[in-house]
Amino acid sequence: MMNNIAEQLALAYQQLHKFSESRPASWPQPRLIAVSKTKPVADIVAAFAAGQRQFGENYPQELASKAAELTHLGELEWHFIGPLQSNKTKLVAETASWVHSIDREKIARRLSEQRPPQLPPLKVLLQINISAETSKAGIAPAEMLSLAAAVASLPGLQLCGLMAIPEAQGKNLEQDFAAMQQLSQQLQQLYPQAIELSMGMSDDWPLALRYGATMIRLGTAIFGARNYDKHE
Ligand SMILES: *Cc1c(COP(=O)(O)O)cnc(C)c1O
Repeated sequence: MMNNIAEQLALAYQQLHKFSESRPASWPQPRLIAVSKTKPVADIVAAFAAGQRQFGENYPQELASKAAELTHLGELEWHFIGPLQSNKTKLVAETASWVHSIDREKIARRLSEQRPPQLPPLKVLLQINISAETSKAGIAPAEMLSLAAAVASLPGLQLCGLMAIPEAQGKNLEQDFAAMQQLSQQLQQLYPQAIELSMGMSDDWPLALRYGATMIRLGTAIFGARNYDKHE
């Protein structure tokens, strides 16, 4: 399993570099977030040993316990990418470096208040429900600038960009990525530092890269299929 993770990572980085070469030189270099949700700590250690430093988690409790077990891996950075309820914000504020899933002012405010003062501001992305799916988290594109203004005013947070999970296998996938790229440009006119665009997962990341993704979130492609039965 260990070798497998190192091999999958090497392959993903090889492809990432290849696909990045055809992007305009002015675009930021994309980074790969290894999504380790439901996977054992040993898998994270294996990826860390292979050079991976950025990891994504979806569940606050799971993030907090993995982070506590792995504090000795000092350079490791956690990205919280899942839905967040207000009673769980503290766990995230204390352990994550990034939160990709901001979709309510109330949650943003709590994260800002609960961010420990000795840590740098929490880097956050606004989650956009770009495929307008009723089941999915995220704000409508029309709400982006008002939520951005609220988040930008909070001292414990740093507004860094946008995130989306377009409808899987959706027939509008390419349009959704293109719409996210436009929203990102619109956001950057007011917030020039908010350059990050988190989109693209194991099944669709090469397409996301063509539309300016700066962070791709890969779970299955790195760690293999997930088994949710054993989880929590
Ligand atoms: C689980 C998850 C991923 C990783 O999905 P894969 O298809 O396994 O790469 C990426 N982003 C979010 C928000 C997720 O919940």
